[in-house]
Amino acid sequence: MHGLPRPQRHKNLLSPDQIPHPIRNIVATLFENGYNAKVVGGCIRDLLLGIQPKDFDVVTDAKPHEIKALFPRAFVIGRRFKLVHVQHGKEITEVSTFRRLAKRKSSRSKNQLNLFGSIEDDHYLRDFTINALYFDMESEEIIDYCGGLQDVYKRQLRCIGDPNRRITEDPCRVLRAVRFISKLPLKLESRLRKSMRKHAESLKSVKPARLENELQKMFLNGAAANAYLNLERFDLLEILFPSVESDNSLALRAMQNTDERVANDKNVTLAFLLAAIHWDQFKALGNYDPTGRMSIAKSIAAAESILKRQREILRVTKQARDFIVEAWTLQTRLEREHPTRVRDVLLHNRFRAAYDLLVLREAVGEASTRMAQWWTDLQDMDEEEQSIAIQQLQPKQRKKRRKRKQAVEAVATSTT
Ligand code: ATP
Ligand code: MG
Repeated sequence: MHGLPRPQRHKNLLSPDQIPHPIRNIVATLFENGYNAKVVGGCIRDLLLGIQPKDFDVVTDAKPHEIKALFPRAFVIGRRFKLVHVQHGKEITEVSTFRRLAKRKSSRSKNQLNLFGSIEDDHYLRDFTINALYFDMESEEIIDYCGGLQDVYKRQLRCIGDPNRRITEDPCRVLRAVRFISKLPLKLESRLRKSMRKHAESLKSVKPARLENELQKMFLNGAAANAYLNLERFDLLEILFPSVESDNSLALRAMQNTDERVANDKNVTLAFLLAAIHWDQFKALGNYDPTGRMSIAKSIAAAESILKRQREILRVTKQARDFIVEAWTLQTRLEREHPTRVRDVLLHNRFRAAYDLLVLREAVGEASTRMAQWWTDLQDMDEEEQSIAIQQLQPKQRKKRRKRKQAVEAVATSTT
């Protein structure tokens, strides 16, 4: 076990004004009722780095049922860790209880994860030093048990304790490390870098639902392209997506596009990224044909077999599966030179996703430039203009055929 560390206290680095009112109220309520409470984790790190935090977490010595009793709109949640969601307006703040580590290594049962402890115990359960800074609103001090503040200023990601041990304890920390160095950005402390490489394979033991959750956080936070390149650098792509070939330019382009969408407050999903990551594979296995001459049943079978393999590692929900399969199977309807039932395609509830995929495919030189542009223009038109555009694609064909027919007839008459 680790010895009890002596904390360093730093004044004048943060002011309580930087903590939003509702969070200050939560902390004040806990204090008024005789509990200890601190603001902790990513929000303190981000404030020190000059970044606006996504959310603020509170940690306290009050037990979940005691926290719940103090707030009118509070809910105890979580199966692994019990914690309390305190609602204020539309926002939710996570309030958790100081925890301590189970004594025996093998005991990872639900109860063992809910052993309550002191703030000193609690800091050691956190992953990286920069994520283990506590802000005391009363004394206005940052409390640092493990040199996290220095690491913030050095912009360094370092494990609390021995990285080999901390990663073996929870292999998901490899992905968390990739997320933080990609988003913030930070340097990796060299021991942590080595451990990430050494224990990369242990990611295979993480439950698929948890990996899905981690990838959502990693890819939908505005730094997906960086994260993707870092996953590649650490040879983690082949662990997460074992059947995908390396040098996947469409996947990287999709990551960049997702980052642009996040920056513009547009909707983003992991399913779309999975569709892009596995596209080449679908193309090969489903005998993709841009002219549309391919069996839909075979396409779906190919899609199912790709996703089945992926599910051994990562949860792909039914909703995500439907999204991916439809985005894929719509590709030929969008890419063929003479699309049929254009209005049905436009009204299809996966049209947007399929169109976005087509545009990305086009951007990496993998799909028809002409048709991507045609669908782009079509969406900006009113109904009348659309009808003309749709007719313009078809009649030329008929005219050609008619001309050809006339020519054949002319030859026939001239030879009789
Ligand atoms: P972000 O801004 O991306 O949300 P964060 O640091 O707040 O970053 P969360 O996943 O929200 O990350 O977790 C909140 C805090 O809980 C972390 O800062 C860390 O202290 C702790 N934590 C979360 N997951 C783990 C883990 N797997 N192991 C150890 N500590 C963890
Ligand atoms: Mg957070």
